[in-house]
Amino acid sequence: MKDDKLPQERTRGEAQEKPAPLVGTVIEVLAGGCRVQHAEELFWCVPRGILKRERKSRQRNLVAVGDRVRFLPAGRGQGVFEAVLPRRNKLTRPDPFNPKLEHVIASNLDQMIIIVSVQEPPLDREILDRCLLAAENLNLAPVICVNKVDLAPEGGPRGRTPLRDEMRVYAEMGYRMLFTSAVTGAGLETLKEALKGKTSAMTGYSGVGKSSLLNAIEPGLGLKVREVSEKTALGKHTTASVRLLALSFGGYVLDTPGVREFGLWRLRPWEVPKLFRDFEDVAVDCRYPKCFHVDEPDCAVRRALEEGRLDRVRYKNYLRILESVTGKRQR
Ligand code: GDP
Ligand code: ZN
Repeated sequence: MKDDKLPQERTRGEAQEKPAPLVGTVIEVLAGGCRVQHAEELFWCVPRGILKRERKSRQRNLVAVGDRVRFLPAGRGQGVFEAVLPRRNKLTRPDPFNPKLEHVIASNLDQMIIIVSVQEPPLDREILDRCLLAAENLNLAPVICVNKVDLAPEGGPRGRTPLRDEMRVYAEMGYRMLFTSAVTGAGLETLKEALKGKTSAMTGYSGVGKSSLLNAIEPGLGLKVREVSEKTALGKHTTASVRLLALSFGGYVLDTPGVREFGLWRLRPWEVPKLFRDFEDVAVDCRYPKCFHVDEPDCAVRRALEEGRLDRVRYKNYLRILESVTGKRQR
């Protein structure tokens, strides 16, 4: 009798056995659920119990793109969340309805690709410095990508200063630099190499060529490319949902405008000088350890500036950024 019973019990046990949970990456969050990639497969996952906890927590959205989640596959590409795994880092902004709450835009990012263009729109170093500040503040490795090099052949003159000379200051600080053209294909292999296997936030002013670059390295994405004039008419932020674009050669790109703002909203004034790498190197010699390098006596940063050891444009942008963070006018 006992021998008969045993296999029966075992069968029943097997029938009740749950499918093994999987771990995947959230690539899109929509009302009611999210799209999760596991290996080559996509799952539409709905939360279980998570929404209730969400209301109690200080965060409004508990799941964000980039999150690694554990879920139970439920057949036909569906799944049920079990847990969000701990985040390595997160990109946040204040919740539009309650600024005390933080809204997580994306998590587990590896680097920030900052795209600027040589011309059309003209290279804007203040935006570049703001993006660098955001990247430093978020602890994301920045990669500077100078696009539309075809508009300045041989890195040739832009105004009076040759482009590569002007950008040398960033390379000297140790930032990785790429020079690309979505039109000629220059530098695209290097850009691909930089994106491979990583989760990258891509940022840059509208019209610098973010969509064109992504389409050029990953034609399947089919991102919309608009004329610069058309963009101005439409306004800057036309992308509604936040997505991670999966790259066929491995890695993801965060497709959202405004990454820069997300990185700066919690910045305190005293943190600003610390995030300017070039200033930090000389600031050890300032008389005051908390020197803002504005009008303090015996300031090593201003001395280095006068002696031509620091870049003047960087300093000008620093003052402007500090001003916008403190809400006060500096010098
Ligand atoms: P996004 O707003 O950053 O996504 O910019 P788009 O990719 O939509 O490009 C804006 C405009 O710049 C379009 O007219 C593109 O054709 C053009 N463009 C993009 N990359 C390059 C480039 O490397 N060289 C030149 N000459 N034009 C480019
Ligand atoms: Zn100083």
